[in-house]
Amino acid sequence: MNYLEEKLTQKKENGNYRVLLNIDDIREEALLRTGDFINLSANDYLGLAENKSLRKEFLETLNEANFRPSSSSSRLLTGNTLEYQLFEEELASAFNAESALLFSCGYHANTGIIPAIADHETLILADKLIHASMIDGIKLSDAKCIRFRHLDYVQLGRLVKEHHSAYRSILIVTESIFSMDGDETDLQRLVELKKRYPKVALYIDEAHSFGVRGNRGLGCCEEQNCIEDIDYIVGTFGKALASIGAFLISNRTAREYLINSVRPFIFTTALPPVNIAWTRFLFHKLPEFNQERSHLRNLSAMLHDFIATTTQPPISTSHIIPIMIGENKKAIHTAIELQKQGFYILPIRPPAVPVGTARLRISLSAEHTNKQMLDLIKQLKQLI
Ligand code: PMP
Repeated sequence: MNYLEEKLTQKKENGNYRVLLNIDDIREEALLRTGDFINLSANDYLGLAENKSLRKEFLETLNEANFRPSSSSSRLLTGNTLEYQLFEEELASAFNAESALLFSCGYHANTGIIPAIADHETLILADKLIHASMIDGIKLSDAKCIRFRHLDYVQLGRLVKEHHSAYRSILIVTESIFSMDGDETDLQRLVELKKRYPKVALYIDEAHSFGVRGNRGLGCCEEQNCIEDIDYIVGTFGKALASIGAFLISNRTAREYLINSVRPFIFTTALPPVNIAWTRFLFHKLPEFNQERSHLRNLSAMLHDFIATTTQPPISTSHIIPIMIGENKKAIHTAIELQKQGFYILPIRPPAVPVGTARLRISLSAEHTNKQMLDLIKQLKQLI
């Protein structure tokens, strides 16, 4: 057996082997079998990705002249169109910030920005459960990094106090809503820390809250009223906004520096203008989706209330709700049972989550109905 075959066998034995599934086939099969396909694994939190009337309205704005399917170059060469410029201005203005910068995706943003802003004189303090894209960004940087216990502000404060005199800057890197646990950072606690220690800068990934939280859907920084106190806000468009891409909100100097330094910004073809146009079209409507946000909150509360009646740890405070299983193979088995009933829930296993914490990750969408939640709860009662 060669090395790669050995590794694959190991993954199979550990319940850690993955294959690519065709979601169109899965949907069709579920519809035939149960008459319904309830996707509880996508990140389409506002239910916009399948909204045909939004697609129709957008398609009506397109014609042969403005349908531009490729940028044909990096933004630093010939890929920086008016669409980009206008969108960045609108984003900055919505956040009442000095500037915004677009990226091709959240993975590019996190793996590009972090190593650009953190050098060997920087200490990164990162929550234990941050997303892989930030971990990879940290690995690519020359900074020393210490991971603090998940949401442990006391330990974080102690680390800042202990180390701040030894470094030029301290970058706290975390998420507002955590992608796998669905719990939340108390951003005001971080802001207080930053106000006590001027060397501290805050880097907050809002991938799972942009679109979903705040009166205008700008995220937890809006909801917790601290946009102006966060140095780097990263948001993504591939989740609630039903598109692709990411943005950074920062001051003007940081933007100027990043344009000159971020490798996944410089060395990649810019997203097509037609894609930016679609994202912009939805972004303009973001403040209007309060009904979707409120329905999503109600659906989440139904599941949280159910979790409170079980032996499950009540971790989530959001629309991302983990059902903790522990062992990989058991997580796979439970997910399959739910899928048979038409609930498309996937097992999440290491390395996406720590070893021994395999789980079902329920990802709610405003598209789901109260009845579907009640049916799901009925199934979960039998399985967990
Ligand atoms: N940050 C977080 C917290 C994420 O969960 C993800 C993707 N799941 C990303 C960044 C990456 O974003 P994208 O999918 O746009 O690359």
